[in-house]
Amino acid sequence: MDVSIVVPLLNEEESLPELAAWIDKVGVAAQLSYEVIFVDDGSTDNSWKVIQHIAQSRKNVKAIRFRRNYGKSAALNEGFKIAEGEVVITMDADLQDSPEEIPELVQMIREQDFDMVSGWKKKRHDPIGKTVPSKFFNWTTRKISKIKLHDFNCGLKAYKNELIKNIEVHGEMHRYIPLIAKWAGYTKIGEKVVQHQERKFGHTKFGMSRFIKGFLDLLSITFVAKFGKRPMHLFGALGSIVFSFGFLIAGYLAYAKFFMAAYRMTERPLFYFGLLAMVIGVQLFLTGFLAELISLQSRDRQEYLYKEALNIQQENIQKK
Ligand code: UDP
Ligand code: MG
Repeated sequence: MDVSIVVPLLNEEESLPELAAWIDKVGVAAQLSYEVIFVDDGSTDNSWKVIQHIAQSRKNVKAIRFRRNYGKSAALNEGFKIAEGEVVITMDADLQDSPEEIPELVQMIREQDFDMVSGWKKKRHDPIGKTVPSKFFNWTTRKISKIKLHDFNCGLKAYKNELIKNIEVHGEMHRYIPLIAKWAGYTKIGEKVVQHQERKFGHTKFGMSRFIKGFLDLLSITFVAKFGKRPMHLFGALGSIVFSFGFLIAGYLAYAKFFMAAYRMTERPLFYFGLLAMVIGVQLFLTGFLAELISLQSRDRQEYLYKEALNIQQENIQKK
């Protein structure tokens, strides 16, 4: 199969028939063999009924339904699991993304050998309250990830099948799939300017909270990428610094008491400060140990250690 089109959706009953027909039109014209995977993310309207109806008259439609709303990332993640196409396309269900882009995206993955191609809504049809924060979001993400994309959160993207089978997307992480892909070793990331329409039916499913959640996710994803394998490098270093600081203060206070005949040491603010620093330092250290233990349990980590051991062996052989 050439293409899997994964469509996450939440309460999009009006858009779905038009979307399905449009995808068919494009797919047939481009002579692609394709499947459409609808993932109903806990819709409370008639979306699921509409999907069932769409699936009745077509053989190439798969559908998943969540019992409640788990979020767009979870929807994509489950869709990815069952995608069989050589190229996997994701697109929003609200008709803001145009299926007309599919053939060219497929071509970019196949012929130009991109691991993934992200859409860029260069001319956006969204309210200003969304476009301005989005500029800031894209700028920050670009700086942190060093990936040169203009529009990280575009719903329309194309991937090599192998890529999506090798990553996990949850929380609000769908905004950062290019980062997740890059960190998984898929570095050939392209961009394509895509058509963008105004929302025809319904309303946006992400409110203002999208910015707070997006920011927190960026922090945690950066942390995991940097220190996930070696949490002790962060906590150990911080803990050592803070503890040494407290220890120096305590040392100074002890010295002052015994050799400079200073008195009432415990009433000085510095005393509490030193005490606090030592306690926090130890706690950071212990957090580091616990984090190491947790990350040791994970499969990734064991693979990593295993590979490290292999490298060492290979070096030894070469030395002999
Ligand atoms: N969506 C989803 N689960 C959610 C929120 C949204 O599957 O919890 C889907 C939604 O139905 C649409 C796509 O994700 O197909 C993008 O959502 P929306 O158009 O509301 O986002 P916006 O275009 O405003 O960024
Ligand atoms: Mg939309």
